[in-house]
Amino acid sequence: MITTKAELENIVTLTDSEKAWFDDPSSLPLLISDHLAGLMCHEGIRRQFVPSVEEKDEAESLDPLAELEHSVSSRLIHRYGHRVALLTTDRCFSYCRHCFRRRFTGLDSGPISDSEIERAADYLEHHGEVYEVLLTGGDMFTLSDDRLERLLSALRRKRSDLVLRLCTRAPVSYPERFSDELMAIMEKHNEEGPMVLMCQFNHPDELSAESLDAVRKFTRLGIPAFNQSVLLRGVNDDADTLERLCVALLRNRIKPYYLFQCDLVRGTAHFRVSVDRGLEIEAELRRRLSGLAMPQYTIDLPEGGGKVILTENHLIGREDGQLIFTTVDGQERRYPEK
Ligand SMILES: *Cc1c(COP(=O)(O)O)cnc(C)c1O
Repeated sequence: MITTKAELENIVTLTDSEKAWFDDPSSLPLLISDHLAGLMCHEGIRRQFVPSVEEKDEAESLDPLAELEHSVSSRLIHRYGHRVALLTTDRCFSYCRHCFRRRFTGLDSGPISDSEIERAADYLEHHGEVYEVLLTGGDMFTLSDDRLERLLSALRRKRSDLVLRLCTRAPVSYPERFSDELMAIMEKHNEEGPMVLMCQFNHPDELSAESLDAVRKFTRLGIPAFNQSVLLRGVNDDADTLERLCVALLRNRIKPYYLFQCDLVRGTAHFRVSVDRGLEIEAELRRRLSGLAMPQYTIDLPEGGGKVILTENHLIGREDGQLIFTTVDGQERRYPEK
């Protein structure tokens, strides 16, 4: 794992703005796994993991989604009625420079403790309306096999009906994590109740044979795989790159789910693409991709407004009891209001 400037300089020639980060580093540590270090020649990957002084732009908030306000404990965020996010750890196998949870990630809360596991399980027992739990962080797969086993057992013991959404970048950052021992734990708990894998591939160059093999270990168990990407300037902010990514994902049985607009998180301004440009890309993707390959372009609104989907509006007016639509090629069509 790469954690120092000297180690990083062994594999890439740092630019001035990358070098300058080390003079006054931001709170999100430098950590690049061996697997990703081997892929640093790909610009779209390097930009996601090599820090730059642009992160020092501190105009924005550390918690623009007001997650702290919606937290029911230090680990549990209950913002939407039927689903909760459990922050299982602050650790990852590599830190993404666009991390939206850097108020928490890579600091010092560490892995979830036994008492925190019990508290989360108790909360879910008393909130029968919740049918889905996002196991997130940090990256849940940085937990030891033993701790994962305890976490999954505790949740299943109280609520075997819960859908467990496994949110992870480990297939991208540390594909060797998915040992036979770990997959046996996954298999056992997937038999007790439903699990879904949620990956984050942002660029087609991340789809290495090892990463795809890691995902295949889940799909083979009958755990469906989805992907959420973040729209990132200089990484994937063009329709060609995203088209290649989404088609390759679908071919590998990974359903593109969300394409996120960057949150207004401190230190990530240099990754942001305007919403207008994002909508142009979305419209172009919709023309090129099958419905299955198409992700939903989504913005998580500031101040805890929650997620809303962004898409080209085809309903452009009403006249004489008729709705007026534009087709994808800009022609007009009418459909009765009632
Ligand atoms: C995004 C998010 C979810 C999941 O939302 P979906 O629309 O179901 O993918 C749940 N909880 C929190 C706090 C979230 O930010």
